[in-house]
Amino acid sequence: MAYKNPEGIMIGLEIHVQLNKLNSKMFCGCSTKYHEVEPNTHVCPVCLGLPGSMPVINEQAVESAMKVGLALNCEIVQQTQFHRKNYYYPDLPKGFQITQYDYPIASKGRIVIEGEDGELVVRITRAHMEEDPGRLVHIGTIDKSRGTLIDYNRSGMALLEIVTEPDLRSPKEARRFLDKLRNILEYLDVFDSTLEGAMRVDANISLAGGSRAEVKNISSHKGAERALLYEIMRQKNLLRRGGKVIQETRHFDESRGVTISLRTKEEEHDYRYFPEPDLVPMRVADRTSGILAMLPELPDAKRERFISQYGITDMHAKALTSEIRIADFYEQVAAKVEYKDGAAWVADVLKGELNYRDLTVESFTVDNMVEIIKMVTHNSITEKSAVDVIRTILDHGGTPLDIVKEKGLLKVEDDVVSKAVFEVINENGKAVQDYLDGKEQSLNFLVGQVMKKTRGRADARDVREIMLERIKT
Ligand code: ZN
Ligand code: MN
Repeated sequence: MAYKNPEGIMIGLEIHVQLNKLNSKMFCGCSTKYHEVEPNTHVCPVCLGLPGSMPVINEQAVESAMKVGLALNCEIVQQTQFHRKNYYYPDLPKGFQITQYDYPIASKGRIVIEGEDGELVVRITRAHMEEDPGRLVHIGTIDKSRGTLIDYNRSGMALLEIVTEPDLRSPKEARRFLDKLRNILEYLDVFDSTLEGAMRVDANISLAGGSRAEVKNISSHKGAERALLYEIMRQKNLLRRGGKVIQETRHFDESRGVTISLRTKEEEHDYRYFPEPDLVPMRVADRTSGILAMLPELPDAKRERFISQYGITDMHAKALTSEIRIADFYEQVAAKVEYKDGAAWVADVLKGELNYRDLTVESFTVDNMVEIIKMVTHNSITEKSAVDVIRTILDHGGTPLDIVKEKGLLKVEDDVVSKAVFEVINENGKAVQDYLDGKEQSLNFLVGQVMKKTRGRADARDVREIMLERIKT
């Protein structure tokens, strides 16, 4: 079933990814670990843009950018070339940003995502390297701020700006694209998504019959979906009333969930790009094959391996490989329990409980997961109790065995269940007769009586089975 896209929505994304696992910034030796320190303490003449200071290319940053380019199926440029993009803004004290212009480090790639109607190839136009400007902190909102603070710790951090073709057709596809991109970047170990401002998204969006607007300042994937939904509604209403969507830059106000007009869009030639005279081109083409050989297994490949190696479903494989840390966790669990049991417990249960609490898999240990799965497969606790144990560990800590003992979750022995079933049948002759006469719900009542007698420690499904056997013989 082909996706119709009745409004003719076209969305292209520009994603600024901070290569935040590097040891130093893009063109100076300042540390990249600035998140927990005082503002304006990780700075030097280069990243403050003082006159006379000279930038030096961080080779590790170039290699990281090449890794990303190759993982996104891009072509890599022969040699680096940096340009100056001239504009003034308080977060950019030297009056220009060092970036790449007509020779981006990588171009013509693609990412395959799950689209509205099956696989969707999203073309990557280019990925270019540039330096991050400082961080502006507006007091209040951007349009009604009393004052603005500037932190130059971020200034000069290595960024990779990834630009897509307008191949996305809905906010949901945009969100899936961002999830997939983040996943790939984390597999490559060049990126930590948990740091503030690690991934910043601008979205170009147009509807059939209108111009495209650019929405800036989207900081989360959920935010991207919300900003796009709002923007589609705004443009749709405008067009319906006979108005015109003008080409402009809009700002997404995350707290209010709206986009507001910032300025009419500047043209590329306004920036007066020219080659950066302080940086000579660096030949990188020869390194491509070496980096390609070192690339780790990427999400799609891992997913296929999980399916063939562990014999698990595509759905489980997808869920497990959607985060590198979950994938690693699963492989450690799978080394000790049945592959399919491990997949079901990690993908269906643990992952959901973690997401619900906004926790990462580091909050749970492989040993605890294995122990819980074994308790279930050895028939010591019910599946329902196992979920209870997982929740208890996440919320209050503790070990599976202690929790099982404390809460009295150990399943009662089979003969105890049999005895309870026997008693319930004897004590409830009328209900038994009702069931035999075709009143289905009487069985639920009888099972409930057994659960009561065993104080909930029997497996309801087992009880049902034993009960049916007894009644019918
Ligand atoms: Zn510096
Ligand atoms: Mn940029």
